[in-house]
Amino acid sequence: MKFDTKTIHGGQEDIDPAYGAVMPPIYQSSTFKQISPGKDKGYAYARSGNPTRTALEKSIASLENGKYGLAFGSGLAAIDAIFRLLKPGDEVISTSDLYGGSFRLFDGVFKDMGIRFHFVNMQTTKSIEKYINDKTKLIWVETPTNPMMSIIDIESISMLSKQHKILLAVDNTFATPYLQQPLELGADLVMHSATKYLGGHSDVIMGSVVVNDDSLAERLYFIQKACGAVPGPMDCFLVSRGIKTLHLRMQRHCENGKAIAQYLRKHPKVQQVYWPGFEDHPNHEIAKKQMKGFGGMVSFSMKGNSYEEAMSFLKKLCIFTLAESLGGVESLAGHPASMTHGSIPKEEREKSGVVDSLIRLSVGIEDIEDLIEDLQNAFRK
Ligand SMILES: *Cc1c(COP(=O)(O)O)cnc(C)c1O
Repeated sequence: MKFDTKTIHGGQEDIDPAYGAVMPPIYQSSTFKQISPGKDKGYAYARSGNPTRTALEKSIASLENGKYGLAFGSGLAAIDAIFRLLKPGDEVISTSDLYGGSFRLFDGVFKDMGIRFHFVNMQTTKSIEKYINDKTKLIWVETPTNPMMSIIDIESISMLSKQHKILLAVDNTFATPYLQQPLELGADLVMHSATKYLGGHSDVIMGSVVVNDDSLAERLYFIQKACGAVPGPMDCFLVSRGIKTLHLRMQRHCENGKAIAQYLRKHPKVQQVYWPGFEDHPNHEIAKKQMKGFGGMVSFSMKGNSYEEAMSFLKKLCIFTLAESLGGVESLAGHPASMTHGSIPKEEREKSGVVDSLIRLSVGIEDIEDLIEDLQNAFRK
């Protein structure tokens, strides 16, 4: 089955044996009647499993070419479940240019539980190799990175992780399985904030994990059930529905993202545009190798690097909404220095490129002429 068919049919065989509904029915039930004590029809209590959730979990697994999919109450709950595979004393090597919430979970929760983190610029495998020792249990990769849009070579890191028997996990939220399939590139775990492109309509918070390894899946199912951070059936339905148009939405996100990156690059007020589709982007070759397109996320900085000018630009936008998050049908604009990266000291964040005038756009699927006109108006004094 090709990807564009999988978004609609992947893992969805016989989803409603009772009546043949075409969409997964929303089983809004916390418990299921047993045939006799201890004998059920496949579902007993909805924390352990719910048919609407199963339909979604199979769909996401199919998109990532994985055997097992698991859904969680949020992207962070999915990451939390992965880190519960570790024990005190274990070490993790993580991408340094990281989603703020992931950093908060690592630094504010798991560090206190005895897990040691090394935040590393993963542009070369050498920079990672330096931190590997016999306590290293997991490499955490986010690519494209947020908000600087650097690309990390998943395949070459997977060779390193396999050689040292370390798990490799990839946060695939920005790219989606439409653009990039980490398991195919050698990762052991792929994680999503389904809140973003998978759901695609900014109406639900959800996370997922996909793996191929049987014993890893067994352990994660146990954690999902034992810790209980599961999504409700209505939310599972919404993400199932979102996924059915993932390929169409991503095509338009990529087209619009490209047009906006090119427009911004020519604008006299723009200092730099961060988008991996540019041939002179430092990681363009890796992006071309591991991604099918360059996505709808674009960041840029302004000449003069004025905080006030960035603020006034953001306030003048009409179609782009000033908001956190990304990956929905609507275009959003964000100011990393005061929003997602606000808690990082100015000197620290500027080292990684998050300057006062940096603006991050999640380019939606509206008409491109309207989007460019909106930016044009916001640049005017
Ligand atoms: C949003 C996001 C998360 C966290 O997901 P939630 O659904 O908000 O918990 C993790 N990683 C990335 C890259 C994200 O964009």
